[in-house]
Amino acid sequence: PSALREVLLEVPNVHWDDVGGLEEVKRELREAVEWPLKYPKAFQRLGIEPPRGVLLYGPPGTGKTLLAKAVATESEANFIGIRGPEVLSKWVGESEKRLREIFRKARQAAPTVIFIDEIDAIAPARGSDMNRVTDRLINQLLTEMDGIERNSGVVVIAATNRPDILDPALLRPGRFDRLILVPAPDEKARLEILKVHTRRVPLADDVDLRELAKRTEGYSGADIEALVREAALTAMRRIMEELPAELVEEESEEFLDMLRVSRRDFE
Ligand code: ATP
Repeated sequence: PSALREVLLEVPNVHWDDVGGLEEVKRELREAVEWPLKYPKAFQRLGIEPPRGVLLYGPPGTGKTLLAKAVATESEANFIGIRGPEVLSKWVGESEKRLREIFRKARQAAPTVIFIDEIDAIAPARGSDMNRVTDRLINQLLTEMDGIERNSGVVVIAATNRPDILDPALLRPGRFDRLILVPAPDEKARLEILKVHTRRVPLADDVDLRELAKRTEGYSGADIEALVREAALTAMRRIMEELPAELVEEESEEFLDMLRVSRRDFE
């Protein structure tokens, strides 16, 4: 079985406005990734090297994967996503070959964003346990990254919740030398995220997103997405109970019209 066949090229469809808040992060990614991929000649003309690797770090569920997909979409680039843990487990014995294939495929399909989620799984500091396997993998990754040519249209974005345990060699110039914090959302960002996730949800007039933003202190973007989904299901459950069964069964106009998420569904 060829390793190549399993390298999944994706054309994501996530746009900047699907990412709530994080304005500063979006701006940085635009300049560090989107501009070099879209305007390689301008970078050549200016005589500056775009980063080969960008590390997104921050708490879980804050939109790191979403951002990587958004920057790929907005750069009209292909996207290859891999996860640190799968490189170690699913690819046993052929991890290095797979990594090589991924970079080869990325060059071939350029512009391409390679996204490595949970990179800390393959990159605990050398010398720690699992060291033999991860050593070889890190070396392979470093070799591949060092081999990314100027303006080749390949950029690597990695994500981690644990930047502190990464091998420092990964962070050297020419590798992941752009570190971007993706913070937990503050109240203003939570409001933006709520707006994103209720864009297609019919809300009753009593729903106050500002108030919800206030009340969701400590929620990540992923938590907010789950909250909205739960509220929608609560509304559905409630409305199904209120209506005669026949109207529900045939998905009548009345039923569909009544499907509105109210304030109480968020309780
Ligand atoms: P992890 O560290 O667990 O891999 P992550 O930072 O990569 O998490 P994502 O996978 O991007 O987080 O987020 C999970 C889901 O949460 C997204 O698919 C999205 O629906 C929602 N989400 C997270 N952050 C945001 C955001 N800023 N705006 C809109 N949706 C968000």
